[in-house]
Amino acid sequence: MPILGAFKAPKNDNHMVGPLQTIHAPMKRFREDEEVDYLIVGVGSAGGVLLQRLARAGFKVLGMEAGPFWDTERDWVSDESGSHKLYWTEPRVTGGTDPLALGANNSGQGVGGGSVHWAAFTPRLHPSDFEVYTRDGVGADWPIDYADLLPYYEQLELEMPVSGPAYYPWGYPHGYPYGPHPMGGVGNALIKGCTALGIPVSIGGPVAILAGSHGDRPHCIYRGFCIQGCKVGAKASTLVTHVPDALRSGAEIRDRCMVSRIELGKDGRACGVHYFDREGSENFQRAKAVIVAGYAIESPRLLLNSATKGHEHGLANSSGTVGKYLMAQAGNVVLGRFDQPVRMYKAPPAHALTEEFYETNPKNDFARGFAIQTVGPLPIAFGKQMVAARKAWGWGLRREMMDYNHWASFGLLGEILPWADNTVTLSDDQDRFGLRVAHVTFNLHDNDKKLIAAAKKKTEEVMWAAGATTVVQESRYAHLVGGCRMGSDPATSVVDKFGRTHDVANLFVMDGSVFPTQGSANPGLTIQALAARTADYLISQGDRVFTSDDRDHAEPKIRRGLAPPETWGKGVPRLK
Ligand SMILES: Cc1cc2nc3c(=O)[nH]c(=O)nc-3n(C[C@H](O)[C@H](O)[C@H](O)COP(=O)(O)OP(=O)(O)OC[C@H]3O[C@@H](n4cnc5c(N)ncnc54)[C@H](O)[C@@H]3O)c2cc1C
Ligand code: SF4
Repeated sequence: MPILGAFKAPKNDNHMVGPLQTIHAPMKRFREDEEVDYLIVGVGSAGGVLLQRLARAGFKVLGMEAGPFWDTERDWVSDESGSHKLYWTEPRVTGGTDPLALGANNSGQGVGGGSVHWAAFTPRLHPSDFEVYTRDGVGADWPIDYADLLPYYEQLELEMPVSGPAYYPWGYPHGYPYGPHPMGGVGNALIKGCTALGIPVSIGGPVAILAGSHGDRPHCIYRGFCIQGCKVGAKASTLVTHVPDALRSGAEIRDRCMVSRIELGKDGRACGVHYFDREGSENFQRAKAVIVAGYAIESPRLLLNSATKGHEHGLANSSGTVGKYLMAQAGNVVLGRFDQPVRMYKAPPAHALTEEFYETNPKNDFARGFAIQTVGPLPIAFGKQMVAARKAWGWGLRREMMDYNHWASFGLLGEILPWADNTVTLSDDQDRFGLRVAHVTFNLHDNDKKLIAAAKKKTEEVMWAAGATTVVQESRYAHLVGGCRMGSDPATSVVDKFGRTHDVANLFVMDGSVFPTQGSANPGLTIQALAARTADYLISQGDRVFTSDDRDHAEPKIRRGLAPPETWGKGVPRLK
């Protein structure tokens, strides 16, 4: 019998979401025949922010989440092998010339989604990212520019909040609202290597981890279990930042409910969703508007699985772009062995980076660029990297693993461009609900290969310059986005600049799938900032979204003061 009692299904009304933070809110429960205003599919990075904003504005909001509503004290462990249930491990098919590893360590499942297992690096996109096609003749332009997102970056950096340097020089130079973290061994290695080569480096962030206590969340204790969820509650996830406030504001989260299909009414507008509940029974929930926030793979999959008369190739797919232009960042890990112990587990993996090579450099034979970041794999992940990088096995692998404390690892984050042949389509295989699973196809193109080769070389140079005596690398990818891209032209994109599908006026997609390009910044902050902007738009539109097909593209008024209660100015803010 565990110390906290028997392992039972969570009671949604009384939840521990950290050792100190408890939700004591009797959760609102809507009847299925009651028409909610907004039904959000997926309560992850984007879904959590949308839920909070829309509930605060007084809408009836229901978040339908395929995974569980975590009770962090009971469900989570500070242990690498015990945390695999945080991932979406339902079947998916992968293929193409450069297949992506799916399953564990890819996308999240459960309230908080991918923000539960993210490392919480939170750099912003650069202004150039919004006009890649105009500047470089590759990729695509966004239908918005940096200035449109700037106020939302600033809001989310305060709400998570983000720790980082007072002056961050890359992109649109700015400072962070909370002071930076002290360095771990990997960070020291990155600083040493970059400094030796004259490369500027950012120390102690930007990362959405508390350097000091904040509201009812404690500060980081540097045990390094961030990707395992952070049982401490110091790392921001929408589970601990926005969801408690959403529930207090009257939202419902229906967890362990898998949405199978979006239904259209006779008027051609979305009228609700079909879903499998936690007992596996199929139900229908009515809604005045639907927002799909299911991640770069599951969002296109749901639209494709919702094909119906008049939308035979999938909902919102008149352009044929649903599932196309899927992107992943190159995420090669470069590992170096040092004579002195590094102990890379003794800090959050995310705490130092350089964006010095982010922008297109005319001297290169490729467009766009890359970042170099700290990565602190725990022993199991390290073991897998040693299998891949050194072909270590048996006793050889054991020897490498016993040497773990002497290794540091840096990750490159390289911009792979959006290509039409990188896709999510439907496989003939079915999941346990009888739904066709996603088939992901991924191919590297010439620009991507040249960029990865240059980024790998530079990251290895930095590792050598830091004093490593052996340097090896593992090829991998990180952070999937795209598949329902936003754009002004309905012939080449799925949603408009607010996430409204071009084809169905009360159906929205808002998550990482809407990115037209991805830069070399980790996507989570931008995903949450986009969600906050869409929430402002929906609130500014009022009931018109539910009744009218007219599209008002005026910029919404920015709503401020939305930080979860009791958090503003708490902790160690660097106030202007
Ligand atoms: C190991 C790791 C580390 C990472 N570190 C970083 C980092 O440091 N910084 C960063 O910015 N990003 C990081 N990321 C990426 C980041 O986690 C994702 O980009 C982000 O969470 C995606 O947000 P989203 O809203 O698109 O989807 P998610 O956050 O994945 O949310 C989607 C939710 O929808 C639910 N869902 C899907 N389909 C359905 C359905 N049909 N019915 C009901 N529910 C459904 C899912 O269960 C999930 O909870 C990391 C990712 C991994 C794997
Ligand atoms: S290192 Fe800090 S953020 Fe990471 S799991 Fe530990 S307490 Fe949480």
